[in-house]
Amino acid sequence: MKKVLVLAEARDGQLRNVSLEALAAASTLADGGEVTAAVFGSNAAELAATLGQHGASTVYTADHSALAQYTPDAYTQALVQLIELANPDAVVLGHTAIGRDVAPRVAARLGYGLVSDVTSLEAGEVFVRPIYAGKAIQQRKFVDGKTFVTIRPNNIAIGAADASKTATVVPVELEIKDLRSIVKEVVRKTSGKVDLSEAKVIISGGRGVKSAEGFNTLNELADVLGAAVGASRGACDADYCDYSMQIGQTGKVVTPDLYIACGISGAIQHLAGMSSSKVIVAINKDPEAPIFQVADYGIVGDLFEVVPLLTAEFKKV
Ligand code: FAD
Repeated sequence: MKKVLVLAEARDGQLRNVSLEALAAASTLADGGEVTAAVFGSNAAELAATLGQHGASTVYTADHSALAQYTPDAYTQALVQLIELANPDAVVLGHTAIGRDVAPRVAARLGYGLVSDVTSLEAGEVFVRPIYAGKAIQQRKFVDGKTFVTIRPNNIAIGAADASKTATVVPVELEIKDLRSIVKEVVRKTSGKVDLSEAKVIISGGRGVKSAEGFNTLNELADVLGAAVGASRGACDADYCDYSMQIGQTGKVVTPDLYIACGISGAIQHLAGMSSSKVIVAINKDPEAPIFQVADYGIVGDLFEVVPLLTAEFKKV
């Protein structure tokens, strides 16, 4: 039995799904022990209720102006203080931009271990994680000491909320000082309708989309399906779309239920970011394109003919 702390993340006042996945992972890891959570920001108390319904027995809330936006300095200081207070055996975070940045910093500072980008937990504290850009799967075991774990979004099932459960909310006063950076303004480059890393359906475009306007064809299908739109690096390099949409080894790693690759050849660096999607559909006019080797369904054809047909059909549903 372990005591596990989850650092929950919110965006636009809403808990991120990956934080609930982290709670589910924490419950498995705790194995009947105590699951606690921490949440930073101004409406932390509201978020704490949801965390309680998903299994956190205690939620530490820290409402500090320096934590309103992520900065490595402020979050590192805050998390170190919370860990000293909660004294967990393990700390679980989403494998998000924040989790990837803060987990190794605090782990190094406190002398904890770190298992990153975990896609599942097996009995006996065995963590499963893809390595070598998804070509191999590694199993790592929790032997001794304390550890950080980051969870890849969309891989661990979230348990149903139990409205009868409540967490004890513990507001914490943190001392945050000597910040080397502060965030003055956040400018979002993407339309942000659906968060790419947590999207259940992704329509992704490559160089075959041919232009920024070509992405409108993909956007129409995405609107019908409530999907996010992603891209290959080829499309980003060609200036058809923003790099925040890039999926792959040097972009975002995604695990949606459905990934529709349009005009993407399937280079290994792209596959590294999407090959663990549950169902992959590839649309490519070249029947030899490597993307078909990982696709569950392949459509050989011109995306500008195929995608509008799909959009029209899905509109009927
Ligand atoms: P292309 O390889 O040019 O493929 C375009 C495809 O579109 C072709 O298969 C073609 O048949 C098809 N097509 C053309 N017209 C149509 C049409 N009308 N209808 C249907 N199909 C059509 N790439 C990533 O994606 N993500 C990464 O994170 C990434 N990281 C990298 C890191 C490094 C260190 C390096 C060296 C490379 C990286 N790359 C990454 C680049 C990667 O190697 C490929 O160059 C890139 O993925 C190719 O993008 P693409 O498939 O869109 O373009």
